[in-house]
Amino acid sequence: APEHADGLSLFRAGLAADPDGAAVVYFDGTLSRRELDEQSDALASALLDRGFARGDRLAVYLQNVPQFVVCLVATWKAGGVMVSINPMSRARELTYLLADSGASVLVCLESLYDEVARDVLAAGDAGSAVSLVLTTSELEHQTRHDGRLFAGASRRRHEGTTDLATLIDEHRGRIPPPVRLGPDDVAFLTYTSGTTGVPKGAMNSHGNVAFTATTYRDWARFGPGGSMLGIAPLFHITGLIGHVAVSFAAPMPLVLAYRFETDVVLDAMLEHRPTYTIGAITALNALLGSPRFTRDHVASFVAVYSGGAAISPTAERRFRDATGLQVHNAYGLTETTSPMTLTPFGSPSPVDPTSGALSVGVPIWSTVVRIVGEDGEDLPLGEVGEIVADGPQVVPGYWRKPEETAANLPGGALRTGDVGFMDADGWIFIVDRKKDMINASGYKVWPREVEDVLAEHPDVRESAVVGVPDERRGETVKAFVSLVPGSTTTPDALVAHCKERMAAYKYPRQVVVIDELPKTVTGKILRRELRG
Ligand code: ATP
Repeated sequence: APEHADGLSLFRAGLAADPDGAAVVYFDGTLSRRELDEQSDALASALLDRGFARGDRLAVYLQNVPQFVVCLVATWKAGGVMVSINPMSRARELTYLLADSGASVLVCLESLYDEVARDVLAAGDAGSAVSLVLTTSELEHQTRHDGRLFAGASRRRHEGTTDLATLIDEHRGRIPPPVRLGPDDVAFLTYTSGTTGVPKGAMNSHGNVAFTATTYRDWARFGPGGSMLGIAPLFHITGLIGHVAVSFAAPMPLVLAYRFETDVVLDAMLEHRPTYTIGAITALNALLGSPRFTRDHVASFVAVYSGGAAISPTAERRFRDATGLQVHNAYGLTETTSPMTLTPFGSPSPVDPTSGALSVGVPIWSTVVRIVGEDGEDLPLGEVGEIVADGPQVVPGYWRKPEETAANLPGGALRTGDVGFMDADGWIFIVDRKKDMINASGYKVWPREVEDVLAEHPDVRESAVVGVPDERRGETVKAFVSLVPGSTTTPDALVAHCKERMAAYKYPRQVVVIDELPKTVTGKILRRELRG
């Protein structure tokens, strides 16, 4: 039998083990597990008083603030489903997500409320299911506030909204009636970022959450005494599982810093001395690239995980040289509730000699990874095909989207849309995303392989490779590159660097140098935007 059947009991086990331990550390403020328990009891009671019922949705549109965690636990205590919304979403996207999820409660920063009220809630029937808006401030849980980071933030009260902290204070001491959560109940809806079509709400169940949080914890050896530095956004599955749920399961404090800003994160490293972090390689690189970075910043770290986007062997080596720490590669999707493969603690990931790819690890417990061909047939070891995942972390489906569920999750297993292979020792390698393949004169070119070769050039900071229409070749390979500050390399020199190292059909015919590559808030480089 699983250790826990739901996310709430993960939190409760940590609470029982060490009630005075820190659940969340935010600048110089701390929210103890007991305090988180009391605040979420109060909020859950308030929600139930207002008619919030089992299965109802509460949408959280927040940055990495402690209230995010309070809202999550309170929603579960009230038997509800949290809808996790990217805080970078604009009115159009927010309108869609509220309508699609049918959320009845929305929690947002008070500094954003005017915009939300004007552009989303007042704009007709799209937001009509929302009957309660709770506002909160990023200053709430900290005593010393950094004037620079929060310059301009002010505490205002809005008509028609309820202040979250006041509501909690008014219901202090109330305990909601116990709710029985089972593994099949939905814990949260996480929307795919829409890099492939209209956003779909993946229904991450309590069973999915309990499984990945405890498995990640055991593989990574997270435990009391450690602490997790939150550099991924909490709304994303990497943050929800890799930060919040594993910090409950360990149990260990979660160190938050509002949003990713290198100087702020570097300060948090020195002040709180965290032992773990999980994030995209782009975020890790940004920390290393800061002129303020010293080895002392990472002196407290035990392990670092990179997930959500590909990492090249060169980037992994550079990180190791600069910090003395290996980056453990972790592969997962929104639909696999974060990890489906992990690099075991302390064991270096192999590099495939042919494609040059760094392994994303091996399938975690109870997880079956298959590599299938065009007709869904199993391919022999070593052959390249689509990666299919089946295990206790795979979501039961998309919210109110039976057709997309049937297409992407046939028979309950997930077609990931990623192309890769498994070697004889069970290590998984990702070649690339299926839809990013470039067809140059009939040859398959995988952008990631070209990006890995560009990464070997000492002047290249980041790169993104895309296919662009070409009269003669059908499609041709084009690279966008950002350079290490101060470097003088030319596009022609980068073309020559690749030409020397790759087959003629693969090397980029055109290299464009730009300052910053477009990225999602999770640090994933948006090749789509570069195709133009
Ligand atoms: P959408 O599904 O709308 O396109 P998305 O791709 O951003 O959105 P996520 O679930 O955030 O959705 O990302 C999952 C994808 O990220 C995987 O399918 C894979 O392509 C990529 N990915 C995640 N981890 C790794 C990793 N360790 N190495 C390489 N790629 C990874």
